Amino acid sequence: MSEGRVNVAGVDVSTEHYIGGRRVASKDRFLDRSPVDGSALAEVSAGGAAEAEMAVDAARRAFPAWAALGPEGRAPILRRFAEGVLARAADLAAVETIDNGSLLTGNTHRVVPRAAQNISYFAEHALTLGGHTIDSPEVVNHVRYDPAGVAVLVTPWNAPLMLTTWKVGPALAAGNTVVVKPPEWAPLTCSIMADIAEAAGVPAGVLNVVQGIGEDAGAALTQRLDIDRISFTGSTDTARLIGQAAARSITSMSSELGGKSPFIVCADADLPAAAQTVAGQYINAGQVCLAGTRVLVEDSIADQFLGLVREAVSHMTVGDPRDPSTRVGPLIHPEHFARVQGFVDRARAEGVDILWGGDRHNQGELYFQPTLIGGAKLDQEIFQKEVFGPVLTWNTFRSDDEVIEVANGTEYGLAATLFTGSEARAMRIASAVVAGTVWVNCFFIRELAAPFGGSKHSGIGREGGTWSFDFYSDIKNIAVRKGSFSGTGA
Ligand code: NAD
Repeated sequence: MSEGRVNVAGVDVSTEHYIGGRRVASKDRFLDRSPVDGSALAEVSAGGAAEAEMAVDAARRAFPAWAALGPEGRAPILRRFAEGVLARAADLAAVETIDNGSLLTGNTHRVVPRAAQNISYFAEHALTLGGHTIDSPEVVNHVRYDPAGVAVLVTPWNAPLMLTTWKVGPALAAGNTVVVKPPEWAPLTCSIMADIAEAAGVPAGVLNVVQGIGEDAGAALTQRLDIDRISFTGSTDTARLIGQAAARSITSMSSELGGKSPFIVCADADLPAAAQTVAGQYINAGQVCLAGTRVLVEDSIADQFLGLVREAVSHMTVGDPRDPSTRVGPLIHPEHFARVQGFVDRARAEGVDILWGGDRHNQGELYFQPTLIGGAKLDQEIFQKEVFGPVLTWNTFRSDDEVIEVANGTEYGLAATLFTGSEARAMRIASAVVAGTVWVNCFFIRELAAPFGGSKHSGIGREGGTWSFDFYSDIKNIAVRKGSFSGTGA
């Protein structure tokens, strides 16, 4: 193994930045530990202002040639990139699991194939964008999706590969060059992704990776004045900081942020299916932005439904995420564990009913019991704030108007889940709930062509399908006076 590379889960991974087509080391390092067993995985290069400058410069230099290729020239390279992701599915899944504790089966069968699609789907979609015209009495408006320039892409630890490719795919397909800032608690699959891009023929400087701590590398990149887009996924508090930087540079920013999503169960729903889906909110230890963490159950079936959920949760194994039978793995980091425990302890001190769980699981230091909290008041912290752990609240409602008001009663608006047997009721509640996505009688099904994003403090903007290109492109209108050219005219 060469210098600057480590063996993680049997996979050779570079610990260095990837800038201008080569690996670049920093003197400063940070230690990346596995949440699965606490083992040290890698001493990773920690970037700052110098690395940010180097990477943005490399991306800027690579931009004209990449943009000039057009969607047709970029598509074959991006297809090879997507195929490369699939070809290394086992490596990526194994490293993601050991690095962030997410379930190996989910990473193998769902996350890695989706990461490849994030690249291939947008490469194909870009081919369909040109040639849109709008007629008007005096002019013909020719609408173009031009590349924007250099995009800085900042991602969180709970789904690094999924979320990095969700940004890299459309940004590159639109003709931008990118600098990725992976999460410091789980940086490794992003480094593998850079190797895959290089092997696929993505030209030097088109995709760059600057690793490091958020306040250093992330801040240095997002505070640069010479960037053209910032796409951020992470917490609402960090978005406020990055937003201030984007305001100074007048840089378009998209944010996909936290949530405290309602999970509404009506009396006329398929209750066994709803109960299984409620139990599913504990998967990946609840470290899922879209999780429906406020369970709101119609009063008349509440006792019966609680029994069904209890039964479903009793079959969920907490343990090593590499074991196929595990449904609930570890929390990411001791700091995060203390945060989750703090939420539960404060709620307990305020007198809520802990219906189950509430403490560390005997599986190990970072494992938390699936937890259900009853009796929380609507203005209590546990009902209002994102915990980002396996902690759900349980409340009942008596009418649709009441559940709509309660569902909308937080600062967040990322998603909502609704189980009901009535289509009319589904559409009435789903229309009134403020959220970027509402799932009806299902959960977590995300079509790449559909819009995705958050309302209120859960985000700014929508991505997916054409919405991604609306963000990653400079949309231009060329308005040509009719009849102003000799020959055929405009
Ligand atoms: P975070 O905001 O702490 O960090 C996210 C990224 O921002 C990391 O790469 C971090 O290094 C970087 N960062 C931190 N401080 C920075 C700064 N000052 N300037 C620039 N970059 C900085 O979030 P997290 O704890 O990694 O992730 C969990 C959060 O992400 C949760 O709130 C979760 O709901 C949210 N999330 C949202 C979505 C979505 O699609 N809406 C998806 C996944 C996670």
